Amino acid sequence: MKKTLLLIGGGHAHVEVLRQLALNPPPDADIALFNPSPSVWCSGMLPGVIAGHYEPAEAKINLWALCQRARVRFFETSVLALDASNLALESGVGERHRFDLASLDVGCVSQPIPISPGAYVVTVKPIDSLLAAITEFESVRSASLMVRIVGAGAAAVEVALALAYRWRGSKNRQISIVAETRLLVDYPPRVRVLALRACKTHGVTVVENNAVAHIEPTRLRLVGGAQLDTQLTVLATTTAPVALLQQTDLARAADGSLQVNASFQSSNHTHIFAAGDCANISGLTIAKSGVFSVPQGAPLAANLLASMRNSPLVPYRHSPNVLKLLALGDKRAIATRFGLAVAGKWAWRWKDSTDRKWINRYTLD
Ligand SMILES: Cc1cc2nc3c(=O)[nH]c(=O)nc-3n(C[C@H](O)[C@H](O)[C@H](O)COP(=O)(O)OP(=O)(O)OC[C@H]3O[C@@H](n4cnc5c(N)ncnc54)[C@H](O)[C@@H]3O)c2cc1C
Repeated sequence: MKKTLLLIGGGHAHVEVLRQLALNPPPDADIALFNPSPSVWCSGMLPGVIAGHYEPAEAKINLWALCQRARVRFFETSVLALDASNLALESGVGERHRFDLASLDVGCVSQPIPISPGAYVVTVKPIDSLLAAITEFESVRSASLMVRIVGAGAAAVEVALALAYRWRGSKNRQISIVAETRLLVDYPPRVRVLALRACKTHGVTVVENNAVAHIEPTRLRLVGGAQLDTQLTVLATTTAPVALLQQTDLARAADGSLQVNASFQSSNHTHIFAAGDCANISGLTIAKSGVFSVPQGAPLAANLLASMRNSPLVPYRHSPNVLKLLALGDKRAIATRFGLAVAGKWAWRWKDSTDRKWINRYTLD
């Protein structure tokens, strides 16, 4: 009997599922993908898009075309609610869709901070509002601009340095990172040293160990009472679950992500799967990062197809020691693995070539 599989979110794992479906279309399957836009960003190339090294078209996967190749129906809309008990979802255009199996790869968003009306705040996740704010600021004449990037992780550093490179000739644009902890605490100490050195070279100021309690139109109020002036505030804070995850009856982990077993099945509804940043795989600690979402795609695809055939599923084997590459804005990058870290132009070329190879896999011409 024909089974219906609904893919929710066109994230890094699901694009690989689509590729596998295009290469080996399953018989007797009705498959659809829901995503709010017809394309999805290659996360590794985002800092290069901001810096101006890539055109947006070079850094986006055409989900709509990939779906056509995979004979998957594409719905350009978000999913608003998922009723796992009744095997149904509600899309953003008010339609109800029934399914036999569903899979979520919806990523996550930046952790919100209380904001007063009138404050200009954009998030790095999803990135589109930041890109729109950058071009808006560039399209109007302004005396000066103070950009505060709130966050302590790789995204905060990469965005700050990409903006510094983009505006390198402009004296009236100041960029600053405000970090709740020390910068890059989840990385080997040498990564922080190299990142701080790059920030100093490119005029990015760094305020560490200061949490932002509230964002007002012209200032950040820090926990402890101090204030910092701001005009545009960019949230690169830790991750939070997307709104949809509050609208489901699926089991969730302490951080709000979906609790799944090693075969990506929800721990309370085995016909629902999840992978990437929105999932928490039992027994594994996996950082929310594209380098960890990408390798989940192929085993997720295999398990979805096996589940449709009622075949046994294969547990995912996580490799924590992957090479991580942090862009430093000026076509240099930090490469880190096994507790070591080095920076250089070669690391950026490596990152550039890895990202281009990855994105080219999804242009099935
Ligand atoms: C500035 C920046 C730089 C980064 N650089 C790197 C890097 O160099 N290397 C790296 O590994 N990682 C990097 N990351 C992290 C990376 O972006 C994420 O970890 C990665 O994209 C997560 O992939 P994913 O598959 O979980 O979901 P995503 O790639 O986030 O995709 C989720 C998709 O689901 C869609 N979606 C969301 N909600 C719904 C809904 N309700 N219904 C339907 N669709 C929905 C979204 O629109 C999106 O298309 C960076 C992040 C940022 C912000």
